[in-house]
Amino acid sequence: MIYRYTTKEICEKTVKNWGRDSQLLMVLEEMSELQKEILKNLNRDKDNVKEIAEETADVLIMLERLIYIYKIEDLVAQQAEFKVNRLKQYL
Ligand SMILES: [Mg+2]
Repeated sequence: MIYRYTTKEICEKTVKNWGRDSQLLMVLEEMSELQKEILKNLNRDKDNVKEIAEETADVLIMLERLIYIYKIEDLVAQQAEFKVNRLKQYL
């Protein structure tokens, strides 16, 4: 089960209420907001750990929506397992 922060039911309702494309744009928007906070932290030495945590939560939630929209729960789980196992071999 890949849904940790939301549920399939929540994802289904959001897509039904606001539309698939708007939810996919929101995935991109939230990833962009997280990138911006990481850049502020690195480039400007800004103390923004709280903002990084907030945007990380947004991204985790939206990644679950992305998985729901594309119906890729099993594929993502398989790829994650494969990639983590491969990573372990390098460590
Ligand atoms: Mg955000």
